[in-house]
Amino acid sequence: MYEILQKIIKHPQKVQVDEIALILSKEEINVKLFALADEIRQRYLGKTVYIRGIIEFSNYCKNSCLYCGIRAQNKDISRYRMSVEQIIERARLVSQMGIKTVVLQSGEDTHYSDKIIAQIIEKIKEFKVAITLSIGERDFNEYKLWKEAGADRYLMRHETADEELYSKLHPNDSFRTRVEHLKKLRELGYEVGVGSMVGLPGQDDLSLAKDISFVRDFDADMVGIGPFIPHPSTPLRDAQPGTLTKTLKMIALTRLFLPDTNIPATTALGTIHPLGRQLALKCGANVIMPNFTPAPYRSLYTLYPNKICIFESDTACGECTKELIRSAGYTASDDFGYRRKFYERVTCRF
Ligand code: SF4
Repeated sequence: MYEILQKIIKHPQKVQVDEIALILSKEEINVKLFALADEIRQRYLGKTVYIRGIIEFSNYCKNSCLYCGIRAQNKDISRYRMSVEQIIERARLVSQMGIKTVVLQSGEDTHYSDKIIAQIIEKIKEFKVAITLSIGERDFNEYKLWKEAGADRYLMRHETADEELYSKLHPNDSFRTRVEHLKKLRELGYEVGVGSMVGLPGQDDLSLAKDISFVRDFDADMVGIGPFIPHPSTPLRDAQPGTLTKTLKMIALTRLFLPDTNIPATTALGTIHPLGRQLALKCGANVIMPNFTPAPYRSLYTLYPNKICIFESDTACGECTKELIRSAGYTASDDFGYRRKFYERVTCRF
């Protein structure tokens, strides 16, 4: 297995999916893998952690992904939409806290037209922040309009690169369509973020290895990896959740394959374990996304149950995140947090 780790470091493009699956299946490699991921992260990116303030502005969605708590078919939740003014004011608050990226996230909600989104982007850019959009699959012309309006990044998780599993989880959608959208976003000049869940029903180590292989080949600018957490109002309510260890292994392997990409320590990890995000930082993650969604909406954006940080006051998550980073031994960055692309691999002790 050490030979495989060495191959990942030196010749990542030559590593086969079954070799990645083997690393995922063996527990005895974990300590070495985690240490190596932290070493690689520090060699490329130092000890800094980027902070992105997230505003979940609508929990309406036209889709019904099987795992998602805000799926259209869930009639058990109250729906909300923030007004344009509310969204802009929240973004102003994020910028006033010295956070240089605003993430605008929602379900796939076409109530916000292309022009309304463009107007929001233009206003928020006045605060001198980077903007990440995370609002699902939309028309290619809309992506273009928003890029021209000033959006910097687009986050569209691929959830699983196992095509068969993807089709089961996403009625009326396909992995190929998602990849087409991701490619289009890149072509338009966005930094493109993807991401996946760990522990989905029907997912094995080979499926997970395909996720790693996909993010490597796509050369993703951001990779968000979190555990699957079953939501009681979804068809997957009785499934087992993903585990902390397997999720950390996925983060660590992603760091080895993409040493300079941005990897968040996800809120979902903090939900399944009190130190989940700190541990992720020690296994290669370098981004944290505190929640700036205002009350009463924050507790209604329930992609999964028991989400942390939903009852905190307006700005508490910003301060708490900085303390979390310090306590894990890293440094909060006040940078915009664009991907710092390296074109040659830095050597490491391994
Ligand atoms: S995962 Fe996204 S697209 Fe799917 S139902 Fe949830 S919010 Fe909608």
